[in-house]
Amino acid sequence: MNEVRTRFAPSPTGYLHVGGLRTALFTYCIAKKAGGKFILRIEDTDQERYVEGANEVIYRTLRAVGLNWDEGPDVGGDYGPYIQTERRGIYKEYAEKLVQLGGAYYCFCDKERLQELKAVQEASGVNPMYDRHCRNLSPEEIKAKLDAGMPYVIRQKIPLEGTTTFHDVLYGDITVDNATLDDQILLKTDGLPTYNFANVVDDHLMGITHVVRGNEYLASAPKYTLLYKAFGWEEPMYIHVEHIMRDKQHKLSKRDGDASYEDLINKGYLSEAIVNYIALLGWSPKGEREIFSLPELIEEFDISGLSKSPAIFDPLKLRAINGEYIRAMSPDEFARIAEPYIRETCKGDFDIKKIAALLQPRTEVLTDIPAQVDFLDEMPEYDLSLYENKKMKTNRETSLEVLEKVLPALENITDWNFDALHDVLFNLIAEMGVKNGYLLWPVRVAITGKQFTPGGAVEAADIIGKAETLSRMKRSIELLRQGANA
Ligand code: GLU
Repeated sequence: MNEVRTRFAPSPTGYLHVGGLRTALFTYCIAKKAGGKFILRIEDTDQERYVEGANEVIYRTLRAVGLNWDEGPDVGGDYGPYIQTERRGIYKEYAEKLVQLGGAYYCFCDKERLQELKAVQEASGVNPMYDRHCRNLSPEEIKAKLDAGMPYVIRQKIPLEGTTTFHDVLYGDITVDNATLDDQILLKTDGLPTYNFANVVDDHLMGITHVVRGNEYLASAPKYTLLYKAFGWEEPMYIHVEHIMRDKQHKLSKRDGDASYEDLINKGYLSEAIVNYIALLGWSPKGEREIFSLPELIEEFDISGLSKSPAIFDPLKLRAINGEYIRAMSPDEFARIAEPYIRETCKGDFDIKKIAALLQPRTEVLTDIPAQVDFLDEMPEYDLSLYENKKMKTNRETSLEVLEKVLPALENITDWNFDALHDVLFNLIAEMGVKNGYLLWPVRVAITGKQFTPGGAVEAADIIGKAETLSRMKRSIELLRQGANA
């Protein structure tokens, strides 16, 4: 069997949509699973859409997620160039060849004529299609126009009758009447090919065996089949995948702010988790397992697990998967990536590793972190109603009483550390014959001003330190006394 060669062929828009990244991932997995080659090709023939620096966004993103290409623009390969605008001459050559083979023709119609035609067709409710005005020009007429330097395009010569069938792995055989197909433009007046032509020429010349792409190309696929036939080339295997949806009705779009890889990174997701999650959008592994590293994905991946139903992007699921990746990290690694997020709200001289250790089991997304540690630098303003906790059976009075007992016990600690704090507080709990929460809840509120903190009273006191803990305790006792008198 031939070597499996797949390609990811993005257009440089400056933005890598998660749908594109998913296509790249599936494409990569198909090649790697078969021990084949993954190729990157930049499809930049639409010059109007050109965005400065957009190729770099593609390179950077693919490298960040580990989808390294075997052949491509900056690494080279035997089938280059891999940037379509650098292949201009190749398309012209093949377009002319196709004219000779009877699969295409020169068209000299100008914009005005075409616009008029379209307007008339639209007004009479017909699907706009080229009326094949230039399809039967004689060789002499063509030569004269070319010699006169008339601008031209090259169009595909679709058979006027019959049907065309192409095969897609997910959709099966699709047959269309040739009469419904437009004599589409293959080579534009600027000498550059349309996507419709370039994808066929390049996939063939680059020896591509499997094409994964969005199903917006399904409707054009029969025309590509006809091009392959006209050239006498063998078609690759097609896999058209469904869009990623925000909900049942709407595609996940740039406007939603979480449609690109970079959006998700900025929202605090980890690269590995993003890749893992998007693999599950439209592909199902055989068993129940859902967490896969990239090498595991390659191992597990099978085309038969792909689905043609639209996948809905579920941010909660992505969060959950991200949380799993965070929990699986080594404490040091987590501390390293958490530090900038901790530092957003916590500037003081704290033991970052200790804070990170508390955060690691409680963080799903890195951007959750700043709000979790915002009480460390300074005691926040808080409402005394926080002391009222039904489950802990506490209220302002019980809290004041507890804090007045805890304060002197804490003042007596000489070696301030987690174990010492733990012993002192739990001894007091035993002495008073109360439930843990009855004492620990008010202490936590008194020194953090918050209902939810990473870790409880002991952890908070340990990190904040003796002087600050005592000063917060005193201040809170003061507030409770005032509250009681009010
Ligand atoms: N350049 C096309 C796009 O970005 C690629 C489609 C394909 O993979 O053939 O949509």
